Amino acid sequence: MNKHLFEEARKLYPKKTGKRGFEKEWKEFTKLVEYRGKYDAIMPLLKPAIEKQIAYREECARKHEWCRPWKDFCRWMKGGWWTEEIPQTNSPKPNRCVICSNTDVSSMVDGKGWLCWRNECKTEYAKL
Ligand SMILES: [Zn+2]
Repeated sequence: MNKHLFEEARKLYPKKTGKRGFEKEWKEFTKLVEYRGKYDAIMPLLKPAIEKQIAYREECARKHEWCRPWKDFCRWMKGGWWTEEIPQTNSPKPNRCVICSNTDVSSMVDGKGWLCWRNECKTEYAKL
C-alpha cells in the first residue's frame, strides 16, 4: 500500500526532470533513516501535499508572483516537504512602491507604505 501511494505521488509530482523511475526513487527514499518506520504515516500525506502545492503555484502564476521552482522529487522527499501545507520556500515578499509597484524602494512612511526613487512617484506619494 505504501509503495502504491509513493508511486502515485511520484507520478503526480510535476517536476519531470531529475525524476527517476519508481524503483530508484523508492530505494533512495527508504535509505533515509529518519523516515524509517513512519511510512504508514507519511505516504498518505504525499499526494494531498503535492496537490496543494500545485494549486499554490498555479495561484502564484495567476498573480504573477514569484514562486520558487519545484525541487527534484528525491530532494522534496528527503526534505520532508509533504509537511508543508503551503511551501515555505518562498522568499519574503519584496517591498514595493505603492505608486508604481517597483521593488527599488528607498523609504517609507508608516501608513503610506514604500516609495521608490522615481521623482514622479515622489510627487504622487506626497499627495497620499
Ligand atoms: Zn515608484
